[in-house]
Amino acid sequence: MSVIPAINPATGATFAETPTTAPEAVEHAVRAARLAQRSWARRPLDERRRVIRRFQDLLFARRDEAAGLVSRENGKPAVEAMLTDVAVSLDITRYYLRHAPRILKPRRLSHSNVAVLGKRGRLHWDPMGVIAIIAPWNYPLLLPLGEAVPALLAGNAVVFKPSEFTVRTGLFTRDLLHQAGLDPDLFQVLVGGGEIGRALVAAGPDKIFFTGSAKTGRLVAKAAAEQVIPVNLELGGSDPCIVLADANLERAASGAIWSRFTNGGQTCVAAKRLIVERKVYDRFLEILLGKLASLTVGPGDQPGVDMGPMIRESQVRELERQLAATVALGARVRMGGRRRPDLGPTFFEPTVVTDLSLDAPLWREEVFGPVLPVVAADDEEEAVRLANDSAYGLSASIWTGDRGRGEAIARRIESGSVLINDATCHVGIAEVPHGGEKESGLGRTHGDVGMLETCRPRYVGTDLLDWIRKPWWFGYHEESAGDRDAIMRFLYSPSPLARLRAIPRALRLLVNRRPV
Ligand code: NAD
Repeated sequence: MSVIPAINPATGATFAETPTTAPEAVEHAVRAARLAQRSWARRPLDERRRVIRRFQDLLFARRDEAAGLVSRENGKPAVEAMLTDVAVSLDITRYYLRHAPRILKPRRLSHSNVAVLGKRGRLHWDPMGVIAIIAPWNYPLLLPLGEAVPALLAGNAVVFKPSEFTVRTGLFTRDLLHQAGLDPDLFQVLVGGGEIGRALVAAGPDKIFFTGSAKTGRLVAKAAAEQVIPVNLELGGSDPCIVLADANLERAASGAIWSRFTNGGQTCVAAKRLIVERKVYDRFLEILLGKLASLTVGPGDQPGVDMGPMIRESQVRELERQLAATVALGARVRMGGRRRPDLGPTFFEPTVVTDLSLDAPLWREEVFGPVLPVVAADDEEEAVRLANDSAYGLSASIWTGDRGRGEAIARRIESGSVLINDATCHVGIAEVPHGGEKESGLGRTHGDVGMLETCRPRYVGTDLLDWIRKPWWFGYHEESAGDRDAIMRFLYSPSPLARLRAIPRALRLLVNRRPV
């Protein structure tokens, strides 16, 4: 039997091994989930909420263990794991527990068209069925829970494939949900790499929530399209961070540094392209480099550490390729630029690069490591142009002393969200829909919209006045042609008088009981 090692990136040491799921077991998992889902969906929402509330209490009680595990498996400082994975997961769970009754409540549709007079319409939000969640390793608790909690509350079952790098956190999540009383078939974890992800898509879930790179996202979307399965894609990002001359430069530098270097620079929503108004470029760069020099890099389980290692050697090599190619095109490394083998196998220094060509990989590609390119813009116009000069459109930030100006610029940025005088943190605000434009993906998670993405809207319309004739039913007699035209005039004529005059004949057709 093959196993997947759980590796602590800070040391490279294996601390656990997990047997992989056999590919032929994947279909069985989806089938079992589908069976369990039918009775789960019939249970009253309050019963489903009770289970999720118990899960929330368990996660809170075991928060230190959860943060420690995320830190050990992913490498980020334990403080960061507590703040960005555990706390945000608790917050999102609380949000959905509180708001699920409102979000899932059937909506009355008012029918204003006289042709459907007497019809009562309701929109119900029914669960999709089996939701497949395929997740990356960078926020191994938060990302799947932000999708699984609303999906389960809405009455779905979940089959979850965590990243092969963070399997233990996936199993921890599963165990807590099962301990909370969830039927084990309603939340299952598949252990393996891309081949198990492929098998999960092939097994025909009712919806797929994929979070990962744009490259894999395309493959998943293609395979899903073959089976007409809807897909939510949360893909890569290369967020611009615009610093205008009127900004509080100290604060902007602190915000940009946290956004770019949190999680070892391996965050989808992060200030990955810094664009600074030329008037303050030199001063801002000086502040930025000064602050960055005081960042403490080290193993995530040590107190006072700001930034941990990168997840794997292959990621470091990819970062080095992007950096070297950018330097070969004329860029200057202003700080960092090297590994820190003294700390461990995958540590990399916080790095700042200037004078880069806009054809360079550090500008064109998604960069998933602690490297920050900085460019100057002559004015606001050029800053906006540079911000939109990317295949990605996940998020953006603008730093300015004039909030109105910031909000006006925000409307011109091509991305799923824009923060003024802040960056990245909206992913942790439960009510904010998260997702991107362009190659950053499709659909949204979090917020009311995120929960509705796990549902299918079902229209139920009831005729209350069943003696009214349907103008479109058979019985296309010549003599009723004028009556039908009266309905057209009543509904669409631009003249109020013509509309008024049409009423008697329009009503004649509606009450005339001669359907075929
Ligand atoms: P990845 O694309 O390599 O893998 C993501 C997941 O897909 C893993 O679980 C992997 O095993 C699985 N997978 C691989 N091949 C597959 C296939 N053919 N079919 C189905 N599943 C397959 O991404 P990663 O390296 O784990 O994560 C980093 C990427 O994720 C970055 O691009 C980052 O920007 C992105 N990300 C995006 C968001 C967001 O919300 N937009 C959040 C976090 C990370």
